[in-house]
Amino acid sequence: MSKIIIGCEEWVSLNDIKIPAIKARVDSGAKTSSIQAKNIKRIIKNGEAWVTYDVNPIQDNLSLYVSCESKVFDTRLIKSSSGESQKRYVIKTILELGNKKFEIELTLADRDGMDYRMLLGREALKNRYLVDTSKSFVLIDNLEEKFLKKYDYLIKQSSGLKLGLLATNKDLYSNKRLIEAAEARGHKIQFLNIQHCYMKLDAHKPEVRYRGGKILDDLDAVIPRIRPSMTFYGCALLRQFSSIGTYCLNSSSSISQSRDKLFSSQLFSINGIKIPITGFAKSPLETKDLIDMVGGSPLIVKLLESTQGKGVVSAETNKAAESVINAFKSLQANILVQEFIKEAGGRDIRCFIVDGKVVASIMREAKKGEFRSNIHQGGKASKIKITIEEKKLAVKAAKIFKLDVAGVDIIRSNKGPLLLEVNSSPGLEGIESITGKNIANEIIISIEKKLKLSS
Ligand code: ADP
Repeated sequence: MSKIIIGCEEWVSLNDIKIPAIKARVDSGAKTSSIQAKNIKRIIKNGEAWVTYDVNPIQDNLSLYVSCESKVFDTRLIKSSSGESQKRYVIKTILELGNKKFEIELTLADRDGMDYRMLLGREALKNRYLVDTSKSFVLIDNLEEKFLKKYDYLIKQSSGLKLGLLATNKDLYSNKRLIEAAEARGHKIQFLNIQHCYMKLDAHKPEVRYRGGKILDDLDAVIPRIRPSMTFYGCALLRQFSSIGTYCLNSSSSISQSRDKLFSSQLFSINGIKIPITGFAKSPLETKDLIDMVGGSPLIVKLLESTQGKGVVSAETNKAAESVINAFKSLQANILVQEFIKEAGGRDIRCFIVDGKVVASIMREAKKGEFRSNIHQGGKASKIKITIEEKKLAVKAAKIFKLDVAGVDIIRSNKGPLLLEVNSSPGLEGIESITGKNIANEIIISIEKKLKLSS
């Protein structure tokens, strides 16, 4: 029989288990083919052993699944690439690849974290195909959109998503708005108090549980609104959610990286993003040079853990700067010393980014005699049209941290716009009331897009 050349990835069909298209990775290292399956349950049908299971046929769309049912052909101990053995069900099904159609054995793998939903093993390839490892999709073009269409009927069926809002206070404006917006778009949203979530760390079946023991395994996405004092635990929970396949709007690493002012400043300079000249030193011996380095007084001293401008002070003279810096250091506080952008006149710009786009921006202005423009510090705010340069800067800053949602603060200087900071849980109240925009709605739409419910 003549053998057909295939690439190391191909689209295949398993029509008898209602999977018209699934991308398979050709894996000649594995004997039997396997498919990622969830909720695997053994049932008895007409006196025979069967399994019911769910398959997400599209790699990055976890809300879309096909419910399948097959007769159990065998159960086998399968050794994974990490060396451990796992008992798996084996079923038989008809595989279609190119113009060939034949029966294969398929093991049901319930471990997520693999990129491919299906692996095509040696047995299926034998005497039929030759693999050209330098190529992909030799037999069928990789038109993901086209294949996704085959599952349109499922998208219509599952009109609403199951969302979790991971936060501390349900009554905060931003949290209330996100719940409202999600419900208005037909989704179910549950408020999850960070402190009431707990985790089971287990290689086979990691879990997140909620107060009273409810296992949170059916959420399509989690929206984190983690206050700074909760960063450590909140980020651990997000890591856990993503390990069980729940999409997190802003990942754990994006949040923790953006909250470290020193690390962020380093990332900005590596990526060519301009910030006010900034210095950092551990030893109080270098205070004088630190002050010179950022251009002398007036300057700004920022506590690394500061939020809402609470740990930001200015020093008018070199003497005052030295005293403030040394006082902070004697308390073992980590601080940044920064050039004071006087020409900003106590104003800065907050850009709200959703899914790589600036959806709204406002200018904040400090109250008279103050330099901190935060609304929380008594400042006021107004609508503003930002320049293309500012827009590009804001988008780039959010992208560096891979934040899906971000509040990017920019200060206007004589050297052009400079980046101040990137906030991973930006508040909605000020920006929605000033711009009149429904930003909560934009956030929910961005989740639908990620989960491919809308385009
Ligand atoms: P926080 O993270 O605590 O909110 P920021 O770095 O955003 O601190 O600073 C708070 C406010 O102080 C800013 O909104 C801005 O108005 C002002 N500010 C911060 N850095 C500078 C600077 N280098 N020059 C002038 N004003 C600044």
